[in-house]
Amino acid sequence: MIDFSPDDRLIDAVGLGEIRRKVDAGERLSFDDGVKLYEHPSLSAVGALAHRVRLAKHGRTTFFNINLHIDYTNICMYSCRFCAFAAKPGEERAYLMTPDDIEARLKGFRGTDLGEVHMVAGIHPDMGYDYYLDIVRAAKRGKPDVHVKAFTMVEIDHMLKISGKSEVEVFADLREAGLGSCPGGGAEVLSDRVWRAVFMDKIGPNDWLATARKVQQNGFKMNATLLYGHVEKVPERVEHLVKLRELQDETGNFMTFIPLAFWPYNTRLQKYGDVTTGWNDMRNIAVGRLMLDNFQNVKAYWVMMTPRLAQTAQSFGANDLDGTVTEERITHDAGTTAPMLLPRDELVHLIESAGFEPVLRDTTYETLQPA
Ligand code: SF4
Repeated sequence: MIDFSPDDRLIDAVGLGEIRRKVDAGERLSFDDGVKLYEHPSLSAVGALAHRVRLAKHGRTTFFNINLHIDYTNICMYSCRFCAFAAKPGEERAYLMTPDDIEARLKGFRGTDLGEVHMVAGIHPDMGYDYYLDIVRAAKRGKPDVHVKAFTMVEIDHMLKISGKSEVEVFADLREAGLGSCPGGGAEVLSDRVWRAVFMDKIGPNDWLATARKVQQNGFKMNATLLYGHVEKVPERVEHLVKLRELQDETGNFMTFIPLAFWPYNTRLQKYGDVTTGWNDMRNIAVGRLMLDNFQNVKAYWVMMTPRLAQTAQSFGANDLDGTVTEERITHDAGTTAPMLLPRDELVHLIESAGFEPVLRDTTYETLQPA
């Protein structure tokens, strides 16, 4: 298939020649390059640069998986200003899933091709360390062949604090319980200013990076996200990407970068935030692809950017469309217009109808099969 994207002369003509030469030479882009890519008026030129990196790394392959989200409690002792999901104990909408609930939910998928359960939630003030181990064990009891990808760095940090055990013991417990990997959330924006402005209750940039380092040094792979479209400024997004890139140089166990579009409804940032735009969504995919030269995968998370834009993102640097998801509460509480689930056939159609080749992956990108 021919890619109708701007050629070198056009990219150079809009003032991105220096960055193009670096990209073609495999040179690392600087902080200033990142700012320029975010602020450059030609989104199509930035996207074309990102697309050529995507083609070099993955050709026209786009990954997806068959997964299920379980947001096991919305009860949270923190009060991040961008969060519409959290509830306080006693609120009518507060809920907590027991290990039995989780086992029953997974049992319902026995005999299906569900490959992954993604479990994240609020930080419940009363649940002890054993609860976290129990819900992982429950998921594995429900469907023994499922990969459990669970716990943001906020949850891992909480477990390390309440366990009364050493770091090595905690990760050994999690592995024994059946944890397979960790998702990337909780960093939001790795900027002290943004942390102080909107999520100072929970761990900040330095603690998030330190916890991610521990996770990876203890043998778990994980993802990394960026929550964009609220109070953060362009240099703070670039700072975030540079910090992720530096940690990846050190550890090498980040699998995927996932830009997350902020949805403002029902949050305390509603009056400041706008609903994400396609322009912003494509820009974050493309700049992430270009700045994170040591990340293999960039995911267009359709729950936050909608399926149509996730499909388009395949031509802006993304090589992964996440999965079927099946049930998601966190972004839906904040007003996303995306559906709750995408059947496998629809995911495959989104990929193929944009001229890409769908490949079903497992969580860690080790087992791949054409769809
Ligand atoms: S973002 Fe997470 S930690 Fe913050 S209030 Fe919401 S559920 Fe709690």
